[in-house]
Order: sequence, then structure tokens, then C-alpha cells
Amino acid sequence: MAVQETDPRSTPSSALEFDVIVIGAGMSGLYQLYRLRELGLRVRVLEAGTGVGGTWYWNRYPGCRFDSESYSYGFSFSQEVLDEWDWSEHFAGQPEVERYCNFVADKFDLKRDIQFSARVVSAHFDDDSHSWTVGVDGDESYRARFMVMAIGLLSAPTMPRFEGIEDFKGTSAHTGLWPKEGIDFDGKRVAVIGTGASGIQAIQEIAKSAEHLTVFQRRPNWCVPLHNDPISKQEMAEIRAGYDELFEHCRQTAACFIHTIDPRGTFEVSERERYAFLEQQYAARGFSMWQGNFRDMLTDHAANQVVADFVADKIRGRVKDQTVAEKLIPKDHGFGTRRVPQETFYYEVYNQPNVELVSMLDTPIERITPAGIKTAAAAYEFDVIVYATGFDAVSGSFDRIDIRGSGGQALQESWSLGPRTFVGVMVDRFPNMFMIMGPHAALGNNPRSIEYNVEWVTDLIDFTNRNKQTWAEATPEAVGEWNAFVVEKAEGSLASEVDSWMTGINLNVEGKQMRTVVRYAGTAPEYRARCDEVAAGGYKELRLQ
Ligand code: NAP
Repeated sequence: MAVQETDPRSTPSSALEFDVIVIGAGMSGLYQLYRLRELGLRVRVLEAGTGVGGTWYWNRYPGCRFDSESYSYGFSFSQEVLDEWDWSEHFAGQPEVERYCNFVADKFDLKRDIQFSARVVSAHFDDDSHSWTVGVDGDESYRARFMVMAIGLLSAPTMPRFEGIEDFKGTSAHTGLWPKEGIDFDGKRVAVIGTGASGIQAIQEIAKSAEHLTVFQRRPNWCVPLHNDPISKQEMAEIRAGYDELFEHCRQTAACFIHTIDPRGTFEVSERERYAFLEQQYAARGFSMWQGNFRDMLTDHAANQVVADFVADKIRGRVKDQTVAEKLIPKDHGFGTRRVPQETFYYEVYNQPNVELVSMLDTPIERITPAGIKTAAAAYEFDVIVYATGFDAVSGSFDRIDIRGSGGQALQESWSLGPRTFVGVMVDRFPNMFMIMGPHAALGNNPRSIEYNVEWVTDLIDFTNRNKQTWAEATPEAVGEWNAFVVEKAEGSLASEVDSWMTGINLNVEGKQMRTVVRYAGTAPEYRARCDEVAAGGYKELRLQ
């Protein structure tokens, strides 16, 4: 129930250094800063890196690029940005995306409120002053009424737990922590461990210059062609003219992607029509095959098998050595039930004489040695080892900060059985803390979700300020209700039956071996309808005082 009086114990805002601390200067943090500044609030963004961009700052590995259409994956809030920024490719590469983030930050003079090289290590709520004290590595701390976690859902890189990693004498790097100076692969013997979306993008690029590339794959993923192309001036003009329509379309689709799920069931069409459609989707750009397929592909095993068999045949057709092809075809999960990596001649890489695939299901890595990698079958020597081993996803970036809410409650303890949130934005016992792209918020086309979440949080902060409230907290009932809804939405989805970061699994992280519902599986329009209802109803689901 909303309580309108101001709690007499709270410290007046004027006595606090900042009204809001935002953690992270990726796309979420940048837009949050922009919006809060419009309210005239004192905001400080704390960013661990030395530049803006978040994901697009850290993941500078070779081949890193968008795999959603560039024009659908930028900000939509500023007509000026839309007018002034030209995308050079349908799927922009990391350097261009990082430039874009800088362009937006510079255009709105955002950097003056961002403190770089400031890694947040702690955030403690004080019940008396109704404020957060946020501690940065190196002893500094900041106090603010509100704290916005804009820390990303795939931003805590994880290394495998192999023995000997530190002993390796060559060069090594994780894709998510790639050195700014880059790594030269020319004439080098290179290993890549991991074949998720990052590994696949890196492998197809590294294979071009490495003397020899050995790919260590545990479980294969289903990959489909990206079909990237440059964007001509004429095409960019057409895209720009259609921006309004494009963003309106994204607002209507299930996960805000350009692609629309086909309303037909797999077996409602003739076999001929079915395969013609699958050919068309395989030849289409980006996530067409995944996000634009028959409506039952991700809920019906038989329907899913049709697509899996179709894609398996494509892999067999593209890889010359059929033993290698079979190793590249997933046998443990259906098509699209894990995140589908997008590729550009990825499978053809295995036809090159300088590329070898080692299946870790047959010959697991036993240890890293000073000279390279030892598997159950052989010892390999390498100059470079690339760890494309993924992230402690969704809640991992929260776990790396000592977050304590009301009464000293640790967030990690609150989430020990999996995250529980109200609309992915708030947590009971963590007053005045808001999350952008938090667990159980609608994700998919992330910039679309970011813009919506940021605007919702901004409106709520504005509401509390106008009502002279200094405490905003989701009630346990509201969290319980949202959690039940999220769990219900995950039921019946084939993705819920599979081990992946999307079901909370990371074998490299203690305590993340059990499947949990970490993702909201409902549609984005449903999600927004619920959030809009909360705001329109005066935030009755929150304790405001
Ligand atoms: P990931 O999908 O989690 O893949 C990690 C890979 O490393 C998997 O192949 C995994 O094998 C392997 N691995 C991890 N630990 C291992 C170990 N101890 N031994 C052997 N293999 C191990 O991570 P990611 O590729 O970085 O991608 C994460 C997410 O980031 C993607 O799903 C996507 O959402 C996002 N992403 C987006 C883009 C883009 O938009 N363009 C690009 C890259 C990534 P198992 O599967 O057997 O665990």
C-alpha cells in the first residue's frame, strides 16, 4: 500500500552527495543518465572500464558484432541520433558499435557525469538515512538516495576450472575481457575453447590468419547464417525513413525483434510448403530462422525436430568431412532451445586444412600446460589460448558486488534459490534499488527493453520525488506474484528443459548447476502491459514512504 508521508528519519536529499548512483556505462547506464538528468537530478555513473559501451566496450574479440539488425538495435529515443548516425552494415561490428556508444555519450555530454575505472565492489542500504552507500575498489564511496544497477546480464566472464591456467607461457584472453591492444594471430598456433555465440564469431575470424587453429568444443550449438551485408547510402536513407514504423513493429513482436513468429503450426502446412518456408528462413537475415519460425517450434518436440533435422542437413552439406559434421550437430538439445549463434561461413572453416575440431565430449581437457593443452588423448602446443567460455549470466554480475539491503540483507542470500524480483526491476528488502535488464524483465532485443525499463524507473523516481517519498520498495507479495507469473510462463517452453545460461546453468560457477527460471519467457507486450498498469495505478505494489 502506498504511504504518502515522508519518513522523518530519512536524510534530506540535499545532504546526500547524489540523488542517484548508476552502476555501469553501457547502453542501459547511458540512457538512464540521460533521462535522470532531464529531471534535474544529481547523478553519478560508476563504470569499471575506461570508456562507455559496456558489452561493446569489453567484448572486443575478433569477429564480435551485432547479430540483430543494427538499425533495430540502437537507441530509438532521440530523433537527432536517428538522423545523424549511419550504420555501415546490417550487423555492425564491435568497433562501430563502440563508436556509436561514444557518439551518443558525446552528443549529450554524458561523460562529465561518468567516473571511469571505478569498479563497484559494495552497495549497502542504510535504513536510517534511506540511502545507498556505494563502494568502489580503492576505498572511495558515494552516497545517494537511489541506486540503478545497469550492470548487464552477460558481463561477468567465467573461466573454466582447469588446472594449470596460470602456468601457460603463451598469450591467453577471455573473449569478454579482450585486451585493447588486440592479439595478433598471424602465423600463430591458436586454441579456442568454447563454441557459444562469442566463440563462433571469434573462430570464423581467427581461422583467416592463424597458422593453425584448434577448436575445443564441449556441446555443439545450432548455428545459422547471419547474411550480413554493407548498407548503401540509399538503403540507409530508406531505413531512416522507416524508423518509426520499425520501432512500432518491434514494440509488437514477442521479444521486440524485427522478426515475427509465423502464426502457422509446423504441421498445418503441406510438406512442400514447410520446407520452402524453412529454406526461405535459412536464407534470410539474422534471427529469422529462430525468431521468425513456425509458432510451435519452441513448444512442440515434433515441430522442433523438423527444424533441427533441416539445419542438421545444412551442416552436413556444408562440412566436407562427415565425422566432423556429426560432431558439430547438437544431439542434446533442439533447435533454438539455447541461444542460436549467427555465423558467416563458420561451418566452412572446418574444411580448411589449418583448422581442427576437438570434441571435449570424446577427449576432455585434462589441464592447461605451460606449452598448451593436455586432453585425455593428446598434448597440444599453442602460442595463444582464447577462452570463449561465457559468463556467469543474469545474476552473476550482481553476485560480484556485496549488495546489502534493508537490515543488512544480502542480495546473494535472497537469490540463493534463483533470482526473485518485481517485474525484473525491484527486489523486496532492497529499497531504492532498481535494475535495468534485471532477472525476470522482458529481454530479447535488449536496447528496446533497456529503453522501456529506463523510462519506467525514471517515472518512478520522479513520482517519489514529487511526493516527497524517500523509500521505494517492492512488497514481498508483489515479488511473489511476479515470480509465480514468470515460473508459469516458463512452463511448456522447450528452452526450459535444456541446460544453458538461460536456465541458470554455469558449470564453472559454484552453486549454478541446478536449472532455475532466470528469464522471463512471456511476451514483451504482456510485460509492458503489467508495468504500465503498476504505474497507472500509483504503484500500489510498492511500499512508498
Ligand atoms: P556461452 O554461450 O555460454 O558459451 C560458452 C562456451 O564455452 C560453450 O560452448 C561452453 O560449452 C564452453 N565452455 C564453458 N566452460 C567450459 C569448460 N569448462 N570446458 C569446456 N567448454 C566450456 O557464452 P558466449 O559464447 O560468450 O555467449 C553468451 C551469450 O552472450 C550469448 O548466448 C549471447 O546472448 C551473447 N552474445 C551475443 C553476441 C551478439 O549479439 N552478437 C555475441 C556473443 C555473445 P557448453 O555449452 O558445453 O557449456
